[in-house]
Amino acid sequence: MAISILGSTGSIGRQTLDILQSEHLAPGAPVLKVAALAAGASNLDLLSQQIVQFEPELVAVPSDSDRESLRASLADYFKSGKKTEILVGEEGLIACATHPAVKTVVTAVVGFLGVKPTLEAIKTGKTIALANKETMVAAGHLVNELAAKHGSKIVPVDSEHSAIYQSLEASILKAQAAGKSLEQAGEVEKLLLTGSGGPFRTWSEEAMARATVSDALKHPNWSMGAKITIDSATLMNKGLEVIEARWLFSIPAHKIEVVIHPQSILHSAVEFVDGSIVGQLGLPDMRLPIHFALYHPQRVPSARVPRLSLSELKDLTFEKPSFSRFPCLAMAQEVAATDDSSACVLNAANEIAVDSFLKGTITFTDIARTIERTLSAHKPIKAPQLGDILEADRWAREKSVSLVAV
Ligand code: NAD
Ligand code: MG
Repeated sequence: MAISILGSTGSIGRQTLDILQSEHLAPGAPVLKVAALAAGASNLDLLSQQIVQFEPELVAVPSDSDRESLRASLADYFKSGKKTEILVGEEGLIACATHPAVKTVVTAVVGFLGVKPTLEAIKTGKTIALANKETMVAAGHLVNELAAKHGSKIVPVDSEHSAIYQSLEASILKAQAAGKSLEQAGEVEKLLLTGSGGPFRTWSEEAMARATVSDALKHPNWSMGAKITIDSATLMNKGLEVIEARWLFSIPAHKIEVVIHPQSILHSAVEFVDGSIVGQLGLPDMRLPIHFALYHPQRVPSARVPRLSLSELKDLTFEKPSFSRFPCLAMAQEVAATDDSSACVLNAANEIAVDSFLKGTITFTDIARTIERTLSAHKPIKAPQLGDILEADRWAREKSVSLVAV
């Protein structure tokens, strides 16, 4: 079976390839061929090493000059007769997402950039191992519509959604067999979406207003790309995950409860209508949900996923989130209940605000203010189609750029 990785040099992309290295495969694990890799311009050296190691048929980079640099560093590889086609831009990214030999596409790019290639991959019926949560946030309704039409399966990579998916799988299959949505099948009371609380879980609002970029990049449990690490500090990550869960599981937003669990051992759970809570536990290591998504529906042995020993666990604690100290979570929960273009606007404004914070243009608490002001100026569109989503994203970026520049 062949796979494609969009964002192969990032945190999720690298961990996906780590699982697939032949010397890391457990005995009996099926070999997955890497047919296509796409990456940004920031780490072309790593991309070139990945190409030499995995010999993909197709690679995509953002620009012609990136392609020239990559070709130059791969001179020996090509001289030895290896064949890898290198495409550029959005067209290249979409070609990687729709490569005919590929069964599963791992969407590990950051942000709205993932929307078009993911939708195109869905239209060709591929399985999506979905890490790029922003696609589900901005275009969840469209993703579901197209996935149903083209028989494409979406398997979450996000650890919380993987935990919920694993806890719910029997209910999902039963609902599908009965031709019902999970909500119509009536077994689920609520989804319990856990989150560590991030580096500022115990910080006051005043302290957060003075937080530096390096404070916000110190995540207590997970090592991830910069954007999602800042989202974890504002708790926007948890908010985006509420919207992601709403669409992935077709569950109304009011049935999704965020629970703060600082140890990140229970990755999320489902409360059923009979009062039973079923969850999934593991060490905080993304290779576990990536491995699950790559091999789904099989359970395959893993030589790379570190094991959790229950008898060595000490405290597992749970608490309610503070919506007043973390307004991004409050805004995202509100938006999750609308099912309209507000989610796309929230996502775009957040991308601009996080980028501005990382560049030192705005303070940590300005992130929420920028998003709030952008959202309040937006006129929402119900059941947005692709054109509406692209326009809402464009408008929200323009609006928030003007706000952060003031
Ligand atoms: P990252 O910043 O580490 O990696 C992003 C990847 O996208 C890099 O390979 C980068 O080169 C690539 N990229 C950038 N511009 C590109 C372009 N124009 N064309 C093609 N590729 C381009 O990000 P990450 O932490 O791996 O996160 C990826 C996605 O997975 C995000 O949506 C994030 O929310 C989600 N996610 C990440 C984690 C995690 O542990 N890192 C956990 C859950 C979900
Ligand atoms: Mg997550």
